[in-house]
Amino acid sequence: MASTPQTMSGILIEEPGDAEVLKWKTDLAVPQLTEGKILVKNEWVGVNYIDTYFRKGLYKAPMPMITGGEAGGIVVDVHPSVSNFKPGDRVGYLSSTRGSYAQYNTAAASLLQGLTALTFIREAYPVKAGDWVLVHAAAGGVGSILCEMCSSIGAKVIGTAGTPEKMETAKKNGAEWVISSRKPQDELVAEIMKITEGHGIDCVFDGVGAATFEADLQLAARKATVCVFGNASGAVPPVDPLRLSAGTPAKNLKLMRPTLFGYVVTAEEYNKYATELLGMIEKGIVKLERTSTYQLENAKQAHIDLESRKTTGKLLLQVPQ
Ligand code: NDP
Repeated sequence: MASTPQTMSGILIEEPGDAEVLKWKTDLAVPQLTEGKILVKNEWVGVNYIDTYFRKGLYKAPMPMITGGEAGGIVVDVHPSVSNFKPGDRVGYLSSTRGSYAQYNTAAASLLQGLTALTFIREAYPVKAGDWVLVHAAAGGVGSILCEMCSSIGAKVIGTAGTPEKMETAKKNGAEWVISSRKPQDELVAEIMKITEGHGIDCVFDGVGAATFEADLQLAARKATVCVFGNASGAVPPVDPLRLSAGTPAKNLKLMRPTLFGYVVTAEEYNKYATELLGMIEKGIVKLERTSTYQLENAKQAHIDLESRKTTGKLLLQVPQ
């Protein structure tokens, strides 16, 4: 096997800011193997909305940083403490410590959006047949998969999306009803009440955040779960817990703010959900059909497109070999 080089190409962020701060560098240090780690030569890197939060400084990380939390590639080196991987193995991995926007990364070994959707429908709110479920950004990365999973369980899925094309995609994903996310929020609430014949939504999955949170509380049914898991439109401001029991009779809402990395902490948890997700992909429940690809060097354009609501499905960066 060829020896691992000392330096690599990748995207470095030296200070927080807009997409311009994603700088292509050709002299980055290849990460060192430490206990329990494998070294992966990345082939494809997953772009996720969270990458924009780290880039902007909404989520804090030491600078300079190589961002990115997900990639797939080939194992090229293994620490002596690791026995379950060997050079040549093909792997997909998540990294809560970032570092995937580059040619090499270490992993404690995409899946990030699929595992997010799966852990949320199992643990944040166990979705059942017959539930009314609302998925915001239903043509996006996580939203597409949430629609596929919830509809396969037999839930009644309503989606929101920003353009007629994205609304069509959301339907194909399994949202039986789709409402434009460009509508005023009071119209969204009224439409949901009409579709559900006054019942409201049993579980809202909301990765949009600030722009939709107030409507979520209004369109939620009694005893519903409002699961806010992202900030695509900005972070939700602090909430007075008393608001969760507003209404006559009181709604007694559950408010969740889950993070994938809190559900896949142990190897057992990770393996359980990764296995179930791969099974869903094999069965065609999760299709992963809609991907847009960019060269790693052009990560800036991927961020610009993602943040301007132009994209559907998954965004991937191709890594030069
Ligand atoms: P998406 O592909 O879903 O992109 C975000 C979408 O949000 C846009 O396409 C757009 O859809 C919608 N949107 C609505 N309002 C705005 C706005 N003002 N600005 C930008 N977008 C807006 O991204 P991802 O699938 O990568 O992520 C979705 C959400 O899930 C993000 O908030 C992300 O942070 C969160 N997430 C959370 C995780 C966790 O563990 N908590 C893990 C993974 C993702 P449209 O135009 O159709 O309305």
